[in-house]
Amino acid sequence: MASAPLNPGTSGVRVRFCPSPTGNPHVGLVRTALFNWAFARHHQGTLVFRIEDTDAARDSEESYRMLLDSLRWLGLDWDEGPEVGGPHAPYRQSERMDVYADVARRLKEAGHAYDCYCTNEELEERRAEARAAGRASGYDGRCRTLTPEQVAAYRAEGRASIVRFRMPDRTITFTDLVRGELTFTPENVPDFGIVRASGAPLYTLVNPVDDALMGITHVLRGEDLLSSTPRQIALYDALIELGVAQAVPQFGHLPYVMGEGNKKLSKRDPESSLNLYRERGFLPEGLLNYLSLLGWSYSADQDVFTVAEMVERFDITGVNANPARFDLKKAEAINADHIRRLDEKAFAQACEPWLRAPFAPWRPEDFDEAAWQAIAPHAQTRLTVLSDITANVDFLFLAEPVDDEASWAKAMKEGSADLLRTAREKLEAADWSSPEALKEAVLAAGEAHGLKLGKAQAPVRVAVTGRTVGLPLFESLQVLGRDRTLARIGAALARLES
Ligand code: GLU
Ligand code: ZN
Repeated sequence: MASAPLNPGTSGVRVRFCPSPTGNPHVGLVRTALFNWAFARHHQGTLVFRIEDTDAARDSEESYRMLLDSLRWLGLDWDEGPEVGGPHAPYRQSERMDVYADVARRLKEAGHAYDCYCTNEELEERRAEARAAGRASGYDGRCRTLTPEQVAAYRAEGRASIVRFRMPDRTITFTDLVRGELTFTPENVPDFGIVRASGAPLYTLVNPVDDALMGITHVLRGEDLLSSTPRQIALYDALIELGVAQAVPQFGHLPYVMGEGNKKLSKRDPESSLNLYRERGFLPEGLLNYLSLLGWSYSADQDVFTVAEMVERFDITGVNANPARFDLKKAEAINADHIRRLDEKAFAQACEPWLRAPFAPWRPEDFDEAAWQAIAPHAQTRLTVLSDITANVDFLFLAEPVDDEASWAKAMKEGSADLLRTAREKLEAADWSSPEALKEAVLAAGEAHGLKLGKAQAPVRVAVTGRTVGLPLFESLQVLGRDRTLARIGAALARLES
C-alpha cells in the first residue's frame, strides 16, 4: 500500500491503539486502529501501539502475533510499540507491572485510593437494598472511612482487600470530539476498583496510567468505553496532582457498528472476523476504505478513495455519533472497485496466493503462467474478492472442466447436441488468432439452429468451463486453445449422446 505523505511525530498529537490480545482481530478493532492511525497521520502526530495484556487468563501470545500481523498486512504502521520500540518502552503492559504497583501505592498515600475489604456477598446485599430503595446501586463508599481498628479487625479475620479509587463528589463534564458535551453526576460514577485482591492491576488503572505516562493527547475509541471516561478523567486529575500526568487528554468515542437485524456487531459474528476478509481476498485498501465509512464519510458523492486520500481529509470531529451499519455488500462493491484500480501487473500478483495455493483445485504443475497472464486482464473487472479467481480460471488448469450438475442441467437442453456439433465444426474451421472470429463461429452455429448468441453460447460455455457464468467466453476459448476446446465440446457431445 502506498504510504500516506507523512512526517510522524512532528506535531504534538499522540494517539494510541491499545487492544487486548484476546481472540481473533475483528472489524471493530480494525476500525478503531484505522481512525487512530488516520488521525495521527493527518496531524503528523505519533501513533503509539500498546498491548493491554494484563489479564493472563484471557490473553494469548497467538492473539498478540495475529494483531501485529494484521496491522502489518493492512499497512497501519505505528511509531512506537512492539518491534519498533520507543521512549516509553516496554509497550506490553504485562512488562510494566512495577509501574502500576508504584502508581497505586502513591494514589493510596495521597488519599485518592483506599483498601476496600467488602466481600462480594456484602456488596451484593447492599446493592440489592439500594435497588429496592430506589437508590443508585454502585459501590456505596463504605470503606472510604474505615478506622485503623476496623482495618485491623478485617485483617485479623483474614479478609482480602482490593484497592478502590475515590471518585470526587463532583459532576464531571467533558467535550467529546464526536458527541459534544457530556455530563456525569457523582451518583452515576461510584468509587471503582483499580487493583484486585491478588495485587493484579485492572484496566481502570493501567489504561489511563499508560496514557498519562506515554503523553497521549487524544483518546479515540469505541462507544462501549464511554462509561469509563468520567472515571479516567477523575483518575487523571489525581495523576496530575501526583506529577504523573501533564494534562487530561481529549476523548472521542466512535459509534457502535450494527450487524444483521440491527444488533450490535459482536466479535463472535462471523462477518466481524478480520481473517475472513483476508482469506476471501479483500485488498487492504478496499477493506480500509470500507471500514473508514463506519462512522465517517469522505464526501457526499464519493465513497471509493485511497488510504492516502482518507488521511488527507480525515477529521475526527466529522465522525457521526449515530450507530453505523455494517453492510457486507457495500464492502464487497468497494473492494471490487479497488481491484479494478490495480494496474495489470499488481492485479496478477495479488491473485498469486490463490493461484499457487496448495488448496487450489488444480495440481501445482498444471498451473500455466502464460495462460494466466493472457486471461488475467479479463478477470480483473469481474472479481469482488480475489479468492473468486480460482473458479473463474480453473477451466484453464484442470484436465477436465468442473462437473457442476446445476450448470449442466441449466445449459444442456433438447437441441444442445445439434448446436454443439455445429459449433464444433465452425470452430474447427475458424481463425483462432482472434476472439472475434470465435464469436462469429458460435454466432453462425446458433443461426443454423434458430438461436440467438446468448442461447448458443450457454452450452458451449458449460462444455468448456463446466459453468454457466464466467469470464468473456471467446477470450476464454482462445486462451484455452483450439485443441482443448474442441476436445471438451466432443466430450460434452459424447455425454449428451450416451
Ligand atoms: N484494551 C482496551 C480494549 O481493548 C482498550 C480500551 C481503550 O481504548 O481505552 O478494549
Ligand atoms: Zn468496601
